[in-house]
Amino acid sequence: MNTQFHPATSTGAYLAQIPADVQLRAADYTHGGHWIVLFSALVGVAINLLILRLRWLSRLRWRARAGLVFAVYYLLAWTLDLPWAMYAHWWRERHYGLSQQGLGAWLSESLISACFSAVLLAVVAMLMYALMRRAPRTWWIWSGGVTSAMIIAVTALAPVVIEPVFNQFQPLPAGSQRDAIGALARQAGIPAGQIISYDGSKQSSRYTAHVSGLGGSARIAVSDALLAQASEAELRAVVGHEIGHYVMHHELWLAFGYSALLTFAFWMLHRLYVPLARLLGAAHAGPLSDPAGLPLLSIILTLSFLLFTPITNGMTRLIENQADVYSLEHAREPQGMALALLRTADYRAADPGLLEEWLFYDHPSIARRIQRALDWQARH
Ligand SMILES: [Zn+2]
Repeated sequence: MNTQFHPATSTGAYLAQIPADVQLRAADYTHGGHWIVLFSALVGVAINLLILRLRWLSRLRWRARAGLVFAVYYLLAWTLDLPWAMYAHWWRERHYGLSQQGLGAWLSESLISACFSAVLLAVVAMLMYALMRRAPRTWWIWSGGVTSAMIIAVTALAPVVIEPVFNQFQPLPAGSQRDAIGALARQAGIPAGQIISYDGSKQSSRYTAHVSGLGGSARIAVSDALLAQASEAELRAVVGHEIGHYVMHHELWLAFGYSALLTFAFWMLHRLYVPLARLLGAAHAGPLSDPAGLPLLSIILTLSFLLFTPITNGMTRLIENQADVYSLEHAREPQGMALALLRTADYRAADPGLLEEWLFYDHPSIARRIQRALDWQARH
């Protein structure tokens, strides 16, 4: 979107600058997205019921180790899910004008990330099945520890091993944008070289930046889609927000949060596996420690995380709010922040009701974030 925005004095005046057709499309995209969360879980359950019926894993388990059974299961489930994923993550993004990526490029990226996941999760699965056999009553606590370590390792390695496979990351080109960002970085005590740009427009036209990595690998990456549009004030506001994530170690807190939820989900799995197997007449899947039961295990974890949606969204909204406050206090660009937020209004309905925001929004709504920026400005 290249709509020219002008400074305004109230949240209402800001939101009124979003063209009506953009508002309608964003509302449609956002509400559809809530259903996508539910349907993705249901599609996952249906696929697992199908794999369970086929009984392939029951035949395979005598010939292969748990890690291999998992890899076969994962790639089978991924293939069955592909038409749905194509609709939800490729076709829909293009339909709403949020991506220009071709199907071939999308498919090859999906396949690469599926291979990454298959290998990583196969290692986790192997460890978990070993723990289930050795500690049948407390395996879920130990597995929580193992998966936390894995989440933290993957988060730390992502900028080094995973992200470069999908995008090109480069130092910011010399110029006023780099100078503006460099000043913010110095003020926060971050090496300026840790703030870089990447060709995010390859996958998505979203106006966005993100922090990835942990400790020495932590960095802030700004999409070229943002750099091409942002004024200096907007850029300072956005990068100030990302620096907030960086200095408050939000990546690490999120990893802890997800690990805690995962441990709780493992406990649910521990309690619900046998009743679910009985309910579905799936005695052939064997006990919990048998990898032939992977579809049952997956159904329980999928439904657990569907139930956790308001919690995971609450976790991310919390850190987003903290990062906004950090940006206001340090970059001191309330107008820049409000304008930058307006530019994200093409993929987020700007002003949802409180309950809708609480249940479904992984970021605070644009209206509330602009209101905070303007309140901050009024106070200073
Ligand atoms: Zn953020």
